[in-house]
Amino acid sequence: MRIFLAGHNGMVGSAIMRKLVATGDHDVVTVAHATLDLTDQAAVRSFVWAKRPDLVIIAAAKVGGIVANHTRPADFIQDNLMIASNLIHEAHAAGVQRLIQLGSSCIYPRDTPQPIPESALMTGPLEPTNEPYALAKIAAIKLCESYNRQYGRDYRSLMPTNLYGPGDNFHPDHSHVLPGLLRRYDDAVRNHQRAVTIWGTGTPRREFLHVDDLADAVLFTMGLSHAQYTAATKPMQSHLNVGTGKDISILKLAHMVADLTGFRCDTETDPSKPDGTPRKLLDTSVMQSLGWQPKISLRDGLAQTYDWYCAMQEAGQI
Ligand code: GDP
Repeated sequence: MRIFLAGHNGMVGSAIMRKLVATGDHDVVTVAHATLDLTDQAAVRSFVWAKRPDLVIIAAAKVGGIVANHTRPADFIQDNLMIASNLIHEAHAAGVQRLIQLGSSCIYPRDTPQPIPESALMTGPLEPTNEPYALAKIAAIKLCESYNRQYGRDYRSLMPTNLYGPGDNFHPDHSHVLPGLLRRYDDAVRNHQRAVTIWGTGTPRREFLHVDDLADAVLFTMGLSHAQYTAATKPMQSHLNVGTGKDISILKLAHMVADLTGFRCDTETDPSKPDGTPRKLLDTSVMQSLGWQPKISLRDGLAQTYDWYCAMQEAGQI
């Protein structure tokens, strides 16, 4: 099978690439960002027609943490809409029957019952800090559903919870919370700081999934027959949640990171920074009923990600 993996250099794409290579017999097509701009429809059209894959996996996206989403909303909605629209439409136009695209748990309403089932989509207003990004991801699900309904395509959507792992963005301001905290506590230990400040009140709760578990879920979903996938979903609710089923407060996460990095001093909160959604825990019972579950605990995943971060720092690559 020939697979076009879009976004193979990102955290998610490289994890999927590692799994595809490990499982062997796929012909995986990739292209560097500098060679193909996925927001350029004509360029995407030529590429997809030239490669004619059997399956497209969309791991490409513009992503960032709460502050990046808040300060650059136009980039987040525009780039993600264009990436999804170009890849999904041009895959269809070139006759590609199968596609898997990835979204995020922020597609769900800010105030919604927890754990969040797939059916909560579009039942209420979104969290304002990431509404533009979330709308682009909702549009991607609806694009897939529309091509499935009108043209009989087999386009699937997975909605992972907050992801982390090797290859993450450790930028001090633009990253997500887990890499942001790993970096802040590690810097604090190296600089002999007496206190670390975390953003917001520390009370929001988040669920964290190691990116290798997501990659495993992508390959698992790829392996489901059309009949299995459509039996587990609905024509107008065709996405599946991927998570661990466990959440943790940001303050507790900060303490875990402090322990891991060997930081022994104070952790302070900064309520002037946004908290975002109070809680985001996915209901993953559908994926579980299909036979998938995550394998990497938060403690092990954090330690492995910290080792990766330290190695990259020593190599001068972060
Ligand atoms: P979200 O899940 O979309 O809200 O995205 P984030 O991963 O950016 O933030 C999750 C939560 O962690 C929010 O309540 C943030 O205020 C909080 N947080 C605490 N410290 C940090 C930090 O250093 N970076 C980020 N990105 N968030 C932090």
